[in-house]
Amino acid sequence: MPVSQHEDCIFCKIVHGEIPCTSVFESEELIAFLDISPVNKGHTLLVPKAHMETLFDMPDDIGQTLLAAMKQVGTAVMEATGAKGLNVVQNNYPVAGQQVPHVHWHLIPRFADDGHMAWPQGAYQDVQEMAALAGAIRGKL
Ligand code: 5GP
Ligand code: ZN
Repeated sequence: MPVSQHEDCIFCKIVHGEIPCTSVFESEELIAFLDISPVNKGHTLLVPKAHMETLFDMPDDIGQTLLAAMKQVGTAVMEATGAKGLNVVQNNYPVAGQQVPHVHWHLIPRFADDGHMAWPQGAYQDVQEMAALAGAIRGKL
């Protein structure tokens, strides 16, 4: 089946071979290649070939294929780099740091003392605030 392409999308251009990438994995539905500006060397992007902007645009039934590829490629990244851990990061919409509007997962190899801190942790005012927010989220499901 032909893969949908979005004009002016840099990842669609990579998928269709119009601009080069350093590919590490390819299947019918997915491609993985090294991020050009890695957090750590070996930082890999796992990208569905079809153009979809965010996670919320994706069909549910790709889940099993995606998880299998994430585990396979993530394991290879860790083994090839000697990393002791791996962050899987996925940004949706610009306010969350999404620069390329074609859905993708970052597989980032991590090393002891690599200097990349964990996210800062905040706090709720009290348990009532937590419970109210949890209730609001449940109410949207
Ligand atoms: P986002 O911020 O959208 O979650 O991540 C986009 C990622 O794509 C960034 O980490 C950036 O370095 C990477 N990137 C942007 N353009 C290119 C490119 O042309 N080739 C490769 N290999 N990576 C790219
Ligand atoms: Zn695209």
